[in-house]
Amino acid sequence: MRFRQLSLVVFVFALSIQFFAQTTPQRSVQLGDLDRKADPCTDFFQYANGTWRAEHPIPASMTRWSRRWEAGETSKEQLKVILDDVSKRTDWPKGSSEQLIGDYYGSCMDESRINKLGLAPAQPMLTEIDSMKTTADLQRVIRHLHDQGAFVPFAVGSTPGNHNPTQTITDIGASGLGLPDRDYYLKTEPRFVEAREKYLIHVTNLFKLSGYDEAKAKASAATVFAFEKKLAEATLDNVALRDPQATDHVTTFGDLQKLTPAMDWATYFSEANISRAAMNVDQPKFLQEVDRAIRETPLSDWKTYLRWQYLHGGADALSQPFVEENFSFYGAYLNGAKELKPRWKRCTEATDAQLGDALGKKYVETHFSPEAKARALEMVHNILAAMHDTVEGLDWMSPETKKKALEKLATFNPKIGYPDKWKDYGSIVLSRDSYWNNQDAASRWNINEDRGLMGKPTDRGRWGMTPPTSNAYYNPLLNEIVFPAGILQPPAFDPKGVDAINYGGIGVVIGHEISHGFDDQGAQYDAEGRLNNWWTTDDLKRFEDKTSCVVRQFDGYFIEPGIHHNGKLVLGESIGDLAGASIAYLAFQKAQKMHPASTVDGLTPDQQFFIAWGQWRGDEIRPEAQRAMVQGDPHPIAKYRVIGPLSNLPAFANAFSCKSGSAMVRPEADRCKVW
Ligand SMILES: [Zn+2]
Repeated sequence: MRFRQLSLVVFVFALSIQFFAQTTPQRSVQLGDLDRKADPCTDFFQYANGTWRAEHPIPASMTRWSRRWEAGETSKEQLKVILDDVSKRTDWPKGSSEQLIGDYYGSCMDESRINKLGLAPAQPMLTEIDSMKTTADLQRVIRHLHDQGAFVPFAVGSTPGNHNPTQTITDIGASGLGLPDRDYYLKTEPRFVEAREKYLIHVTNLFKLSGYDEAKAKASAATVFAFEKKLAEATLDNVALRDPQATDHVTTFGDLQKLTPAMDWATYFSEANISRAAMNVDQPKFLQEVDRAIRETPLSDWKTYLRWQYLHGGADALSQPFVEENFSFYGAYLNGAKELKPRWKRCTEATDAQLGDALGKKYVETHFSPEAKARALEMVHNILAAMHDTVEGLDWMSPETKKKALEKLATFNPKIGYPDKWKDYGSIVLSRDSYWNNQDAASRWNINEDRGLMGKPTDRGRWGMTPPTSNAYYNPLLNEIVFPAGILQPPAFDPKGVDAINYGGIGVVIGHEISHGFDDQGAQYDAEGRLNNWWTTDDLKRFEDKTSCVVRQFDGYFIEPGIHHNGKLVLGESIGDLAGASIAYLAFQKAQKMHPASTVDGLTPDQQFFIAWGQWRGDEIRPEAQRAMVQGDPHPIAKYRVIGPLSNLPAFANAFSCKSGSAMVRPEADRCKVW
């Protein structure tokens, strides 16, 4: 019924009572969340969501909090209901989704059994590591670790190829660091120096838990750090890693072997049963460093490093002391969480990560209606159309490049809610006996499945996120925008909500993902998903000028004295937000012609649109998490994801009658507009 999409709350509601007695009022912006004492033209982040933040402190186990994160946690509670229900029974047919997710979750929840086992489940692999005598043994151990999903010190996975994405290739990437990235090993600022000290203590503690005495544990931690520092020196930094050209190194099996002569690739590829047909080495210099370490680093150091990495990767599936030690460094120290998430939540997240399709199928049955899917798809089409209009209307782009941009836009593939085809996990053998063994079995299944894709035509039906995930993505190789059911939930998206909140919430997210196809990375991929320049030289130059405005804008955003965003690191996401807000706003204008919107409590439809974005994105964040994001996350912190794009938009200034010179109105000369 079209009436359900109308946003004339008062008027339509009256009509509804008259003609459609069962229709309820449509949800609009959260008036109680606004901080009306704040001036929207000075600090829109505070105005849109300040009261909510004041009234909802970050829960102890979380590091960021807003209605968006709250919705993500609500999804986990919905998954818990499903998992509690299926795990009550132990007589499900073997291999059924219920048996698999029930046993996985049930074994994870059996904390007393896990605690009783202590380190025992990890012991066989630790013994194998300890018994290495030759570099051939070392390479066998690395292969065995990879079979279980412990990708150290490098990773091998499938990906559609950069130059022919219709074929899936074998990709060899860098991995194997315990700290988040190379800067933590190398930079001299006090926060990195402190992180290294804390890391050494953490690694020492984990070795102690594994049975080493204080002296041996301390010496082993120093060995680990020295080993990882060498790897870190050979890796690209976070900014360099954003450049698709920097990791594009198509190679042959023969050249891979020449690049890294000490590595026994023939045995690796044959034991893993993976294709040699086409491959890419992300970071050749890193792989050469691994090769050097195989030749030169004493086996005793390798044993120490691999023992640490194995315990580090498996800590959360071991007994409580391992879990707590792991949390104390990664959750508490690096990200500022005050306490561990409850066990049920960790077990729910683990089940979703390993058996996402089995759990996701049950989730969408109850939490994602065909009507929601249809309405979301309609919004995607409307926002794609707005992007089309935007490209056509650009005054700085030549007709030649425009034609290519529109060609690319026409091949966008939206995926909504959940995959058309579910994975069949039926061959995985799981039981209630051992969480460790269940995790191992599910990991091996997922690794084997991934390996099976290499060397084959690309399966365009696959998803990179599970259905309950409260997130979305763009994949340039498949030119697809993907919105799992978990993000298509209130308050971002409400099939019963007014257009203003849906376009200002999920609409901006949809616009953001579309814009990724045209950000500094996405714009390097053509309509077929190939890393292939489709721009004229002049247009590319003008595009780069426009994006450098966004770099300057975000370079200027500080989180605390001395620590500011790195404009180049957050460039793609910031272009996404700026263009996303702009095209979602255009689509909202068009939608209003079909279903006119009304003023709510003095707030115009345009004001509601921008408030919806400010409320959904209105995170409170812990200082530690903020620092970690600024260092390594390509997304800006929420405050600047609200203030940054909106202060560039004339439509925002108009909506709130902001005068030039206000903080929320960037001076004309500094105003950024990319799309
Ligand atoms: Zn993004």
